[in-house]
Amino acid sequence: MKPAAFDYHAPSDTEEATGLLAELGDEAKAIAGGQSLVPMLALRLASFAHLVDLRRVSELRGIEHRGGTLRIGATTTQATLQRSEEVRAAVPLLARATPLIGHFQIRSRGTIGGSLAHADAAAEYPAVALTLDAELEASSVRGRRTIPAAGFFTGTWTTALADDELLTGVAFPVWRRPRGFAVEEFAHRSGDFALAGATVAVGLDSESRVDRCAIGLFGLGPAPCRARTAETELIGSAPDEDRADDIGNLAMAGLEAVPSDLHGSAGYRKCVGAAMVARAWRRAVREALHD
Ligand code: FAD
Repeated sequence: MKPAAFDYHAPSDTEEATGLLAELGDEAKAIAGGQSLVPMLALRLASFAHLVDLRRVSELRGIEHRGGTLRIGATTTQATLQRSEEVRAAVPLLARATPLIGHFQIRSRGTIGGSLAHADAAAEYPAVALTLDAELEASSVRGRRTIPAAGFFTGTWTTALADDELLTGVAFPVWRRPRGFAVEEFAHRSGDFALAGATVAVGLDSESRVDRCAIGLFGLGPAPCRARTAETELIGSAPDEDRADDIGNLAMAGLEAVPSDLHGSAGYRKCVGAAMVARAWRRAVREALHD
């Protein structure tokens, strides 16, 4: 199928792009890599009279250290992040999640901002942003604001962004060492969206006890979420690999609205989710102890 007809706009800076979104209202949609939006348009699941292409807005691309954070421009492609030494060193969890996104052709066009704004509940980047307490930067004709990841993903494919707001970048805190990170997911075929997945980040104090811990879950609800009860249980404890299965089960305990569909029932997804948390915990802890 082909998309319904639309007018194409190619602004050259953020001001022009946000101006177009404000002027054209809900008839307009930003397009970045097009890897989620174009299939939706082609299948006529969505249609917009105007598309505002962000590809020429060079100020929306790039990776830079800012204080204790790594700031990434919204239209930086997933392939660029996968190749970046800076990302690998400063935000290893983001680097490890990237190859799990679709296939390399998709990552060559798909952007970090598109993935966060699209907010698929089974996507890797939203869970990484939530796990690392990233801050998302938004811009509109009304000004700029920063939205913590914890308040950004509001439900199924929905975010805190207003219709006329652009996501301009995302800042990831750089965790101090020793630290360990892992992402684990299960999909029926390589490159598919995950049926269930988990991200774990662990920081250790000078006595090798857990002083920082974050567990993110994806594919297990309408939006990515954190396993806060399990995290609280782990703070101050020894980083014990033998507890992995208990932590996995604890992470699933409070979950409501786990999807149930032809790919897997809610019960099956929870079993897989618990196993993914357990696996990620073991790998993150092993890494932190050797960091
Ligand atoms: P687009 O498709 O251009 O836009 C997506 C949405 O975000 C649109 O609503 C658009 O308006 C909005 N948007 C984009 N940029 C901005 C911005 N800067 N500010 C405000 N709104 C913005 N993703 C995964 O995470 N994991 C997977 O396993 C995975 N598998 C895939 C498999 C296939 C076959 C395909 C086609 C896609 C897959 N994807 C997967 C999706 C892919 O990662 C997309 O690249 C991503 O979801 C959207 O990024 P994009 O830059 O292409 O955004």
